[in-house]
Amino acid sequence: MKFPFRRQRPVPGLPLPAPGEPTSAMVVVAHPDDAEFMCGGTVARWCAEGWDVWYVLATSGDKGTRDLEVDGQYLAAVREREQREAGKALGLREVIFLGHPDGFLVNSHELRGQVVRLLRRYRPNVVITWDPFASRLNHTDHRIIGQATLDAAFPASRDHLYYPRDYAEDGMEPHRVADLLLAASASPDYHVDVTAHLGTKLDALMKHESQIGQRTREDILKRWSGKTAHESFRRIHLGSLPGGRSPGDEEQGRTK
Ligand SMILES: [Zn+2]
Repeated sequence: MKFPFRRQRPVPGLPLPAPGEPTSAMVVVAHPDDAEFMCGGTVARWCAEGWDVWYVLATSGDKGTRDLEVDGQYLAAVREREQREAGKALGLREVIFLGHPDGFLVNSHELRGQVVRLLRRYRPNVVITWDPFASRLNHTDHRIIGQATLDAAFPASRDHLYYPRDYAEDGMEPHRVADLLLAASASPDYHVDVTAHLGTKLDALMKHESQIGQRTREDILKRWSGKTAHESFRRIHLGSLPGGRSPGDEEQGRTK
């Protein structure tokens, strides 16, 4: 996977919570190491600013090797351990694995419901996932988890009659995500300066020993010495409007 820093002039993003106003975020991805590559600096920054951040991984990456001697079940265990260690380096609250098979993710009722339930349980204000609409070639699992997460955040987690047992049986209130940030987008419009957090991002990245090959921390870091580093996203703002409406209610055809 290409290292996704952008060498560009700083572009101020629309404000998420101001510095000093910590909030919460959930990063929903397909495989161990996805999040470190695409948003590890952003997560490091948020954790340093006091945010609560959770990772959700749909698979444990059991296909991620070209070593003909490696067994998938063994590989998944290795990669779960690597991901948990990366999470500790970043300061995450928790890393959650959903256990779907790598490479065969489906935007199913089950997967969407799992994400909805986690959104209702942890109630993050911000959700980062893969941009499912990116036109370039992208791993099928990346596209699928992006789509399932968007579908979970809007409208399913917001409305209690989607997956109704969450509320009816377990008392989990519906949850409205305020902002979606789509990573690896062809049209990013939200840029996070992670220059001061590159070291932590790389500390986390290097925990994925099974994936980084011969690259060293210094190999990666020296490409960015003296430059500002940004991670870029496409932002979808779902925050409440007066009257409790969500942006996009009308164009999404929602009636109530
Ligand atoms: Zn991946």
